[in-house]
Amino acid sequence: LNPQPADIQVLMYHCTELLDEKFKQKFIRVRFEQDVAMPMVPLDAQRFQQAVMNLLFNAIDASPEGGTVRIAVGIVCRNGQRYAAIRVCDEGPGIPTELRGEILKPFFTTKTQGTGLGLTNTDRVAKEHGGWLEIDDTVSAGVAFTLMMPVGGH
Ligand code: ADP
Ligand code: MG
Repeated sequence: LNPQPADIQVLMYHCTELLDEKFKQKFIRVRFEQDVAMPMVPLDAQRFQQAVMNLLFNAIDASPEGGTVRIAVGIVCRNGQRYAAIRVCDEGPGIPTELRGEILKPFFTTKTQGTGLGLTNTDRVAKEHGGWLEIDDTVSAGVAFTLMMPVGGH
């Protein structure tokens, strides 16, 4: 792991650019919501982008044609620590309650061509940075995954 101060917004834009064709194929709109003045966050940019891409791949798979994928970046406090919260939210079918405990497990997939390694990897990257991956399926449609990454320092 090679954490360097990173501009999360820039990394997020880069990830969505790489997937531009895939978004267009399903007429998916990408919406960015950002907190003002995000601090630089110590991240291994390569690992972080892999983690984000896995979430975006899943959001694309889950999205209906013409759906919207929302990306929100902000700062939250938990247990007296500051975290960068990177949230990816789709308008897909969501995750059935009975599968909630399975999706982070290696090789668990509901897709014919799936590897079942995407979320496993994303979860691992979060933990490597001292953070974690949150799953929120109480959103109105679809599901939201949030990467929680410690801001550190200060
Ligand atoms: P894969 O994408 O190869 O199936 P993942 O680890 O990325 O592997 O995801 C595991 C499973 O979690 C998926 O097969 C799917 O059932 C579920 N899942 C992940 N992301 C979403 C999402 N955004 N909406 C609905 N289900 C999802
Ligand atoms: Mg996946």
